[in-house]
Amino acid sequence: MTNPLEIPGFAHVYSGKVRDLYAPLAADGTVVADRLMLVASDRMSAYDWVLETPIPDKGAVLTRLSLWWFDQLKDLVPNHVVSTEVPDVVAGRAVIVRKLEMLKVEAIARAYLTGGGLEEYRATGSVCGVHLPEGLEDGSRLPEPVFTPTTKAPVGEHDLPMTPAEVAAELGADTAAEVSELTRAILARGNEIAAERGILIADTKVEFGREPGAPAGRGGLVLADEVLTPDSSRFWPADRWQPGRTQPSYDKQYVRDWLTSPESGWSKASGEAPPPLPEAVVAGTRAKYVEAYERLTGESF
Ligand code: ATP
Ligand code: MG
Repeated sequence: MTNPLEIPGFAHVYSGKVRDLYAPLAADGTVVADRLMLVASDRMSAYDWVLETPIPDKGAVLTRLSLWWFDQLKDLVPNHVVSTEVPDVVAGRAVIVRKLEMLKVEAIARAYLTGGGLEEYRATGSVCGVHLPEGLEDGSRLPEPVFTPTTKAPVGEHDLPMTPAEVAAELGADTAAEVSELTRAILARGNEIAAERGILIADTKVEFGREPGAPAGRGGLVLADEVLTPDSSRFWPADRWQPGRTQPSYDKQYVRDWLTSPESGWSKASGEAPPPLPEAVVAGTRAKYVEAYERLTGESF
């Protein structure tokens, strides 16, 4: 992984697969405890690997799209955004946020069946403890969005599915119920908005946090990280949706498909780092991310 930027006035505190986190420094050089600057890099992750080839402008697309969605969703759920006034070196791809205590759950909801959810359904007839009708195919719409949380594994490890009992044990029953409701509501509201723009959001992952010291139990959850981006969601063009096959998409599925194709020469099971992406795949991925942004927001990137 590339070294994080040195940014005057900020101290680097953490790097995830895609984002670099910085603590703002006060005039006397001490850390501002209740704020973070989240800088989205152009790094691409797939199958829990950080790929060695960056996707130009990806960090800016993710940041701008998340800001747009946070605003669209603000009546449904409070979010962590404080300001977009950031140093020039990271302008457009960074936000100042409230520093939260993050819940140790990746909150995933699925409105359509594909990927890991489809595999589980084929094996068991249900997904994350929710029994589903027979005869569903790759890309089928679910009767209603299903909550399918996973663990938040440390860098280098894989996120694992969590049962409802495990989520309740981790978060407490009240918070677990609230996370499930909010995650499904965010996906449902997102789909209402995206439908007007010809996009289906098949599934998505969000992360919630709480202000430090906020009481546990109902209320007080804040939507953090990123929301309804092509990194965290599957976006499908509505006019080409056809259950029973892999759907065309505006998201990182394109990269996953190339990585698992014979052309890449790489196997998921090898345990080895994936190869660099060819120029055409980089350009194709960038174009898909930009198209998702432009179609959803109606703005040109
Ligand atoms: P990981 O952090 O496990 O490596 P990731 O690779 O998806 O996951 P990134 O998106 O690259 O992570 O990094 C963002 C990190 O910042 C995540 O760990 C996320 O939980 C954390 N985060 C996001 N918003 C906030 C916030 N408001 N307060 C504290 N932490 C946050
Ligand atoms: Mg993340």
